[in-house]
Amino acid sequence: MTVSPSIASAAKSGRVLIIGATGFIGKFVAEASLDSGLPTYVLVRPGPSRPSKSDTIKSLKDRGAIILHGVMSDKPLMEKLLKEHEIEIVISAVGGATILDQITLVEAITSVGTVKRFLPSEFGHDVDRADPVEPGLTMYLEKRKVRRAIEKSGVPYTYICCNSIASWPYYDNKHPSEVIPPLDQFQIYGDGTVKAYFVDGPDIGKFTMKTVDDIRTMNKNVHFRPSSNLYDINGLASLWEKKIGRTLPKVTITENDLLTMAAENRIPESIVASFTHDIFIKGCQTNFPIEGPNDVDIGTLYPEESFRTLDECFNDFLVKVGGKLETDKLAAKNTAAVGVEPMAITATCA
Ligand code: NDP
Repeated sequence: MTVSPSIASAAKSGRVLIIGATGFIGKFVAEASLDSGLPTYVLVRPGPSRPSKSDTIKSLKDRGAIILHGVMSDKPLMEKLLKEHEIEIVISAVGGATILDQITLVEAITSVGTVKRFLPSEFGHDVDRADPVEPGLTMYLEKRKVRRAIEKSGVPYTYICCNSIASWPYYDNKHPSEVIPPLDQFQIYGDGTVKAYFVDGPDIGKFTMKTVDDIRTMNKNVHFRPSSNLYDINGLASLWEKKIGRTLPKVTITENDLLTMAAENRIPESIVASFTHDIFIKGCQTNFPIEGPNDVDIGTLYPEESFRTLDECFNDFLVKVGGKLETDKLAAKNTAAVGVEPMAITATCA
């Protein structure tokens, strides 16, 4: 069903507080908030400052973000900041270790009573539907607890279910879009035919910000399912092979392999392995229709807005590997020049 944009809320004016803006997903959201022209406040927690964190803070500040200091588990401080800066929209993008701290934040939001929308740290699957093995399950149990606390509080909310970030879905890397797709061999999960949705990081931010004051997304799970970006891992491998102009060997990572990696309980790698199992073996992103009263597909809300395609996103990776491919070609040429037969690269199992 396409819903008329005319019933979306009126002009944007709310002051936004983003918690976790120095993190992987939070940075996309903070940049999109600034792009949207909303007054954007960013809560930065004290502690050791890695260079990437300082760079992010500086670039957000240069673009007009107002930097606040503190941690969200400090309820009196959060109440003070929310009141003092008349915050209307709170978006949390905190990482796995501090998901439950959001319950204190919900308490602060409730006691202040002026926040019009809260987006907790979701940015993945619909955690009430998906059912990964441990240790991913523990994270989902925590996210579910936060959902229940929000619903009980009566604070209007939106749950962003944006599915996978556009990249090669490495089973052991929680931020795979920071890593280029394989150049040596593909690891194919199962038979490689289970599909998933891939969304570019800036699009996660852009579409998240469209929901924050839209009445159609109030108290809803908002699902990101761009049809242009629905791929199985075999299709993903073909796409990348076309970009780099050669075929790569494929090895199969079986369901059992993923379960074994998950059971090793190495954090965060085993959490990622359990999600990889849920996505590419069990099909958790596609095994349900978006038809419940609390579900809405972002594509029907904003049909005029397009998602960047995975094909385009892979072009970005191609630019990044350009130098490496040139080096590879040179090495191959030198090897041929000294009379050694270049090894044929063929697909093995998949
Ligand atoms: P990161 O670990 O990269 O960043 C977490 C951010 O939260 C950092 O800015 C951190 O600050 C801040 N933070 C943590 N605790 C507190 C606190 N108590 N008070 C204030 N700030 C705090 O997180 P991710 O971006 O990896 O994860 C964010 C969400 O996105 C999670 O829900 C995760 O499940 C999801 N996700 C989804 C992905 C997808 O493909 N769809 C991929 C990755 C994550 P500091 O800089 O000081 O550490």
